[in-house]
Amino acid sequence: MTDFHLLIAKWYRQNFRTLPWRETKNPYFIWLSEIIMQQTRIEQGTSYYTKFIRAYPTVQDLANAPEQDVLNNWQGLGYYSRARNLHFSAKYITNELNGEFPKTYKEIIKLKGVGTYTAAAIASFAYNEKCAVVDGNVYRFLSRLFDVATPIDSTQGKKEFQILADELIEQAVPEVHNQAMMEMGSIVCTPKPKCDSCPVQTYCQAFQNSTINERPVKSKKTKVRDRFFHYIIYTFEEKTIITQRTEKDIWQNMYQFPLIETTSIDVPSGISDTIDFSSKVQKHILSHQRIFALFHHVNHAPTVSTAAHLEINKADIQDYPLPRIIDRYLEDTANQ
Ligand code: SF4
Repeated sequence: MTDFHLLIAKWYRQNFRTLPWRETKNPYFIWLSEIIMQQTRIEQGTSYYTKFIRAYPTVQDLANAPEQDVLNNWQGLGYYSRARNLHFSAKYITNELNGEFPKTYKEIIKLKGVGTYTAAAIASFAYNEKCAVVDGNVYRFLSRLFDVATPIDSTQGKKEFQILADELIEQAVPEVHNQAMMEMGSIVCTPKPKCDSCPVQTYCQAFQNSTINERPVKSKKTKVRDRFFHYIIYTFEEKTIITQRTEKDIWQNMYQFPLIETTSIDVPSGISDTIDFSSKVQKHILSHQRIFALFHHVNHAPTVSTAAHLEINKADIQDYPLPRIIDRYLEDTANQ
């Protein structure tokens, strides 16, 4: 495979998609883009990336922003721990590293929320360090190139694939090579691969062995947990009640209407008499959880008030970071 890296680099130069974070060497911008793009479509991620670099042009600006401001800007992207980790690490860089972004893979991986893939991406894109990235697209591409049957989600698989990726980057220009490997996986070696237009088809062992559709192999099925949320929307004198999610759970520190979680979607008997109107079931899928929610409208103030209750003007609710399921429900009902 002596000219493999040359073939994919040439293909990349002719086929790459122009993305704003590919036009910078600023490690802070690259870090932002990598965290934003995790589990996010490119179109959606691009607008958030632009919003973040405008709101926080330097790592110090991000560090100095209130957490609520960062979460508000993140609203709609989901997986809020990413935003919290970004904020935490920005403070760490500002306060502990004199505002200087770490310059090597070994230092970058110490940042909270940064794993092997993200550290390799930043080190190679910003500093041209020879670190091979292995994301989902690269796993698929490598598993076919070398016809590897080891599950990509096993410890052994992770080791094997990293070794293969490290060998391939050896002779290459790290930044271009990594971008090319990922772009090949996302444009050509896709779940339904376009082998006819593949520049490295002659090297592809799965193509020769007719095992393409069996690669990559996965061992585990992700266990998904169902949860049932009943939100109570109190309305009185243009006001409503919200609470903050303080417990260690999804959407930590975000705001919501008072919530009763139950083991089924049936309306809890204690509240059924007070409800004026209930929504249809709203579904929200996360990587390990499926949320089924009902929004119950109650046209008066709560009869029992607790310390957690925050009384706000209904019109001000968008000033608070809200989970996407609530945000979407408010959007949908406002448009009706
Ligand atoms: Fe992927 Fe097909 Fe190319 Fe093999 S020949 S690397 S399966 S696109």
